[in-house]
Amino acid sequence: MGTIKLETPLVELPGIGPRFSKYLKQLGITTVKNLLWHFPFRYEDFSQIYRIADLEPGQHATVQGTIEDIKLRRTWRRHMSIVEATIVDDSDSIRAVWFNQPYILNTLRTGRTANLSGKVSLGDHELYLSHPIYELIQPRRQWVGAPTKASEETYETRHTGRLVPIYPETRGLTSKGFRFLIQPLLKKLERLTEWIPTPILRAHKLPNINTALGAIHFPESIEEATAAKNRFAFEDLFLIQLFNLKQKLKLAEEKAPSIPTDIDHLKRILPLLPFELTPTQKRSLWEIIQDIGKPRPMNRLLQGDVGSGKTVVATLAALIAAINGYQTAFMAPTEVLARQHFETLKKLLSRIESIRDASPNKPAAGLLTSGSAEVFYGDGLGEKLSKIRLAEKIRTGEISIVIGTHALIEKRVGFKNLGLVIVDEQHRFGVRQRAELMKQEKSALIPHFLSMSATPIPRTLMLTIFGDLDISTITELPAGRKNIVTKIVSPTDREKAYQFIRTEVKKGRQAFVICPRIEPSDQSGLTPDQRELFKLEVKSVKDEYEKLSKNIFPDLRVAMLHGQMPAHSGRGLASGGKSTKTSVMNEFRDGKIDILVSTSVIEVGVDVPNATIMMIEGSDRFGLAQLYQFRGRVGRGEHQSFCFLFTDSNAKTTNLRLKAILEAKNGFELAEKDLKIRGPGEFLGETQTGLPDVAMRGLQNMELVKSSREAAVKILTTDRELKRYPLLREKLSTLQRELHLE
Ligand code: ADP
Ligand code: MG
Repeated sequence: MGTIKLETPLVELPGIGPRFSKYLKQLGITTVKNLLWHFPFRYEDFSQIYRIADLEPGQHATVQGTIEDIKLRRTWRRHMSIVEATIVDDSDSIRAVWFNQPYILNTLRTGRTANLSGKVSLGDHELYLSHPIYELIQPRRQWVGAPTKASEETYETRHTGRLVPIYPETRGLTSKGFRFLIQPLLKKLERLTEWIPTPILRAHKLPNINTALGAIHFPESIEEATAAKNRFAFEDLFLIQLFNLKQKLKLAEEKAPSIPTDIDHLKRILPLLPFELTPTQKRSLWEIIQDIGKPRPMNRLLQGDVGSGKTVVATLAALIAAINGYQTAFMAPTEVLARQHFETLKKLLSRIESIRDASPNKPAAGLLTSGSAEVFYGDGLGEKLSKIRLAEKIRTGEISIVIGTHALIEKRVGFKNLGLVIVDEQHRFGVRQRAELMKQEKSALIPHFLSMSATPIPRTLMLTIFGDLDISTITELPAGRKNIVTKIVSPTDREKAYQFIRTEVKKGRQAFVICPRIEPSDQSGLTPDQRELFKLEVKSVKDEYEKLSKNIFPDLRVAMLHGQMPAHSGRGLASGGKSTKTSVMNEFRDGKIDILVSTSVIEVGVDVPNATIMMIEGSDRFGLAQLYQFRGRVGRGEHQSFCFLFTDSNAKTTNLRLKAILEAKNGFELAEKDLKIRGPGEFLGETQTGLPDVAMRGLQNMELVKSSREAAVKILTTDRELKRYPLLREKLSTLQRELHLE
């Protein structure tokens, strides 16, 4: 057995050297483990060796034979070099041709035996192999974990005559290069310790780690490769499942304030709303009420299409907490949204004034963002104040429902009696922030937790990444919503679309224009490069604004909104001064702006019922789920709404992708599609998962997800602390550390 360890840095190995190390580093590969865990993403099947006489044009095949003749030719006209070889086996001979690879002559010499794998092409009269992969035949050595038989006189190959692994490549390192580096390493590698309990491997028919590692790189058959891949995907999924289930079990042991709901009370509140709750809004509210009534922390996700009315459900829960004397922290992803929620809450408090008056704990609302601090007590009574004063009022419990952005975490606001944490558009917040907010409370009681997302979570993800959450789903839109007419607009139809927008605006409607996404989605910790991109996006908004306001719609009121504008003008009203995000949003809502040009700031949650047109520039640069979100910004009022997806791309794939939006009946369907098209990484946003590729692909495999869950449930039921599985326990705590440090 070999002696190389997984942790060994590659630079210490003979045969890798500074040259390869440099290239490997580009891929983040610095240790033996990194390199061996650089898995092929597919295999070429060269496993069968053909008799030359049996070859047929168009086939991909491997032949084995002796090099009868090999020489270099140069062409006059095009300064090309051509290497031509003739290979013979006992059935026939065939020519092989390579362009511009004169160095082949150093390896393939007359008289040597070699495998050649490649496409069989038909020349003028005869067949030839064009650009075959080639390999001299070498004596066979051992795979990791395979029993040794020194006398075995077979041949082994790594590039031809078998399933050939194709790797993600980098500049300077081809798939062939990887095969060249990996194969000898596998042989010298120490025997790895299996950490998945054997019964589990057996139950799910998965190979052990040594077999799997050999087979994922150099499988004897596709089945072997698949089994190996499944093993590696399974192990990550299994760990995630264990992690989530343990979290869930742990949470179930924690104490939370039990917040009872006075049903009669609720029955008097509901009719005061401007509308009747839809059936699934009611069911969701009911589920939440049940949860917060228990002395164990709720951990629930409220999901529902854009516009399905999640806010009111969450706000009612906050209100119930407030009536019971518990505070709520309500986090929104942007200032614009935080303010919108605050306005909604103000209206609600005003509507239920009679109930508020009767309540011993008079619910009051606060708004805290990096730019503003405000309070509202009902009776139309409210004020702007300093953040310090607001923080004080939160600390004393005078303000019961605090709406805010990240500032709520960053400012380390101390609550008197935090009973409920609500996070809107949860997929925007990482796992870490969630933990952080929870952690802030030093009290023995853990607040209930409710997150909301308009990106429906596909089932496989629900069972894994989100496996520790209970889920409530709002499945229908409020009655009276009209279908949104959606059109893909090619460059030639641009004028027509503009004409149409003008007509609608003249009728009194308003329009959003979204500019192409350039910024990275997570703006904290931007590198200077990314900051440049971010500026670019702002520039694209400014350019678009100039174009629309000066050339296309000079007669209409056009304004812009982007992330670099100040959120809010601090104290006092933003009268006449510089525009802020808030002032622009308010003017738009009040109908003082016809067309709002914006970055994806607008993406989440914004609610302006009179806006009926959503026009998206460079729509092919957005993910489907995101486009769906944008579209959900319109269609909220009584008028027919429209969504125009502008694209400059004529690519078929782009259009196919965009068409999915036209066809999707609901967000769920789209989310599944998006997951398939873009993969879980893009779907969730990189920062959300930190999962390796294999696991990511595993997330699309329902069978694997299910079996990993079964395995995790089974093992935790019998051995909750994993006492009998120290190796597994160690793996799990490593994952735990990574997830928290990430
Ligand atoms: P989302 O689920 O996307 O966050 P919102 O909570 O912003 O949606 O609600 C969208 C709009 O629908 C709001 O204007 C809200 O007042 C309205 N709304 C919510 N529930 C209902 C309902 N049951 N009937 C009618 N309108 C509703
Ligand atoms: Mg919302």
